[in-house]
Amino acid sequence: MSKTRKGQEDIFEIKWKTDLPYRYSIGKLAVKFFEELKENKKILGSKCPKCEKVHFPPRAVCADCFIKMTLDDMVELPPRGTLEGFTVVNYPFTDPSTGGIRPFPYGYALFKLDGADTYTMHFVNETDVTKMKIGQRVEAVFNDELIGDLTADIPYFRIIKEEE
Ligand SMILES: [Zn+2]
Repeated sequence: MSKTRKGQEDIFEIKWKTDLPYRYSIGKLAVKFFEELKENKKILGSKCPKCEKVHFPPRAVCADCFIKMTLDDMVELPPRGTLEGFTVVNYPFTDPSTGGIRPFPYGYALFKLDGADTYTMHFVNETDVTKMKIGQRVEAVFNDELIGDLTADIPYFRIIKEEE
């Protein structure tokens, strides 16, 4: 414990490190998603049997009508989509997948995969905002070696021209 002074008030700080190991079940749909990504380089979403909304990443329960989905409701989606929003990160930020500082600047985008009704976010290979536009096409870039981890297997999406 240390005592510091800030302005006229004393601030007490208690510093400690703690270890919080935990495990949780990701569920059958997520297991299938990661297996298909790793084994067959496929991207799966889940399609609600009631409203037919396609969720990506796959969800076990439809967010609109609360219908539970099963493995039979999983659908393959193409690795391409459309940019719906974007930013360029220009400051150090902890990468939650590594715990380290991701080299910056880097592009981060909101997009919909073709056939999906929900948005997802991922890294993009562009860092010049003047070169990004809503409606641009994006495509997943896969690693050569797939391990069943979304950000490792698809480290980023690249902006493509429509004719590609
Ligand atoms: Zn639904």
